[in-house]
Amino acid sequence: MSEQMFFEEGALIAVLTTQPLDRALDYKAPEGGCMLGAFVEVPLGPRKVIGVVWGKGKGDFDYNKVRAAYRVLDAAPMRAEMMSFLEKSAAYTLTPLSAMLRLTTRAPGLGDPPSMRKIYRRGEGEPDRVTKARTQVLDTLNEYGDLSFTLKELAEMAGVTSSVIKGLVKQGVVHEEDSPRDLPFHPLNPDLPSKELTEDQAAASAVLAKGVSSGAYGTTLLRGVTGSGKTEVYLEAVAAALRAGRQALVLLPEIALTAEFLTRVEERFGAKPAEWHSGATMTERRRIWRMVGQGQAQLVIGARSALFLPYQNLGLIVVDEEHDTSYKQEEGVLYNARDMAVLRASICGAHVVLASATPSLESWANAQAGKYTKLELTSRFGPAVMPTMGAIDMRSQGLPSDRWVSPKLKEEVDARLARGEQAMLFINRRGYAPVTLCRACGHQIACDHCDARMVEHRFLKRLVCHQCGESKPMPTACPSCEAEDKLAPVGPGVERLGEEATALWPDAKIATLSSDMYGSARALKAEIAGIAEGSADIVIGTQLVAKGHNFPKLTLVGVIDADLGLMGSDLRAAERTFQLMRQVAGRAGRAEAPGTALLQTYQPEHPVIGAILAGDEEGFWRAEASERQHAAMPPYGRLAGIILSGPDMGAVFDAGNQLARNDRPLRDIGAQVYGPAPAPIARVRGRHRVRLLVKAEKGVPLQRALAAWVSQIKLKGDLRLAVDIDPQSF
Ligand code: ADP
Ligand code: ZN
Repeated sequence: MSEQMFFEEGALIAVLTTQPLDRALDYKAPEGGCMLGAFVEVPLGPRKVIGVVWGKGKGDFDYNKVRAAYRVLDAAPMRAEMMSFLEKSAAYTLTPLSAMLRLTTRAPGLGDPPSMRKIYRRGEGEPDRVTKARTQVLDTLNEYGDLSFTLKELAEMAGVTSSVIKGLVKQGVVHEEDSPRDLPFHPLNPDLPSKELTEDQAAASAVLAKGVSSGAYGTTLLRGVTGSGKTEVYLEAVAAALRAGRQALVLLPEIALTAEFLTRVEERFGAKPAEWHSGATMTERRRIWRMVGQGQAQLVIGARSALFLPYQNLGLIVVDEEHDTSYKQEEGVLYNARDMAVLRASICGAHVVLASATPSLESWANAQAGKYTKLELTSRFGPAVMPTMGAIDMRSQGLPSDRWVSPKLKEEVDARLARGEQAMLFINRRGYAPVTLCRACGHQIACDHCDARMVEHRFLKRLVCHQCGESKPMPTACPSCEAEDKLAPVGPGVERLGEEATALWPDAKIATLSSDMYGSARALKAEIAGIAEGSADIVIGTQLVAKGHNFPKLTLVGVIDADLGLMGSDLRAAERTFQLMRQVAGRAGRAEAPGTALLQTYQPEHPVIGAILAGDEEGFWRAEASERQHAAMPPYGRLAGIILSGPDMGAVFDAGNQLARNDRPLRDIGAQVYGPAPAPIARVRGRHRVRLLVKAEKGVPLQRALAAWVSQIKLKGDLRLAVDIDPQSF
């Protein structure tokens, strides 16, 4: 398909909409004709919907009965490479193309004419009276002549009040005009001085820059301990992309955590990048969508869905913390943003950088096999060294069952506080207590809709289901036996640990970082920034603090329950625990003072705990890899999960059994089916869930076989089926 393909008015076009139909529908091209890839508004039944011109119409129907598209929308046509990306990712994830398209058209107000706002530009002549403030305004406008400012922006940039600008407008020295609301981004400058790189860093960034400027697809695994300068290095790859006139995308797992990161980017390139995340306002999302589509936004920092923005000229995708499980979208379209980034880059000739201190086994194996280039930063930048790791054997600590900080850990924290350093206590559990137990009848409060216990969130005074998000006020009486005042919290969560810490260190400033306690992402960001400057002596937190922050005064990390992730049957548990513990430990000793990480554990002899303590990463990966290879499990074999769900457990199981019996299409490719069995969470939002696992060798046409296989059953009533390619847990 040529990108320039044009359809004259009245020509038959196929339009793909986001409506849940599995194919494009025929229309007549609207007045004025349209390009392939154009966004158009079309009639669908009694409604108007938005779609994309996906190709020539099929012409299966009487031409006279085919309806005409209403109009072409004011947005850059979708590029052929984006259409190809959507088709391939739909085929890979076995998702209807329309659902894939929905991921790309989330821009609110796509199709509305942009609303207007007032902007300010340099006008004619000089002011009647020259003042310092007036000169600042004119200097700002002269310096950034091509940009348009709102009143507020211009006042901020020039450091004056808006009345100064209004005064200049009256004299005609500054022009006020109406302009579409989508303000362009300030240009980024890749040639501002960067930090002076170490030899290792410079070598790595040269390799990346070469990859980026080759203009061809390639993937590099950039591995380096926390604090080794991976970010510095990949920012140089971004610079290379910008110099080549191409757009760059940096994907981050938790966009809320990027205040510090954005400042760094801004310092490096002299202006703010586009920040794409679910918390952004409608106006901002719309602006980014359009500016990316015009090739005007050069750098996007975003959460996984930023992959689906309409880049015109994408040259680099960085996936930071590539091992992070939040890259897998677990609802709606089930896709892994890391894998989709590689797919997208291979289609448009971009370079991918996968950065991590603890790569996923998948990426590690791809690098070993030579599919990815391997780059390594082995030491921390500057005087910082990796923390000393140690275990606290909880069997010898004699703690009562409602306390979690061991005497040994307390002693270590005391020593840090005495030296004016910071300590962190890490626990991987949100809320106050994971279980609420009735001491009269033994009842444990569970979610009404899920197979999960409700977690007490004392700060919110509510019980919350971490599966479906349902919450209810904390009851005073047992919902089962109605006994009053018998409900007791069992086990620790981050809030409860905070309470214990307050009792242990009544004079210390303690910051409990739980998302519950902050009204907004912004408040949380501010708190984190304060901690970095030393506003707290003890930081208590969940995964929220495990990633990406620099707390220079932090020298001790105590992991409250290092065994937590090792329970359960998930084959990936070892990998996850290893990654998380290394990540958390990496928080300690990021500046001059050396750091220590202590793991409280009941099984210090567990091989995973042993590998963490020894810091033997290669050894750990090799052992994990050989185990997976032996079992032909990912990344050495392929897996797909089929989740059937519905309100009636019997019907769900029947459908699962029917699938399991009719496994011919799978046997044809040598794949096996396991199950049906209750899914890892057997009931969510009132729907029973049953899972089948399909295991195949690499290199077989798994998706095609799966499609043929699942199409054999008719989903009756409210039964639903979802295919999960490369499931996270198995
Ligand atoms: P990583 O991404 O591997 O965790 P960062 O890039 O965040 O590492 O670097 C850790 C810290 O060290 C940051 O504060 C960073 O600014 C600093 N740093 C790294 N390399 C250099 C350098 N070459 N010059 C100055 N500061 C550096
Ligand atoms: Zn629930």
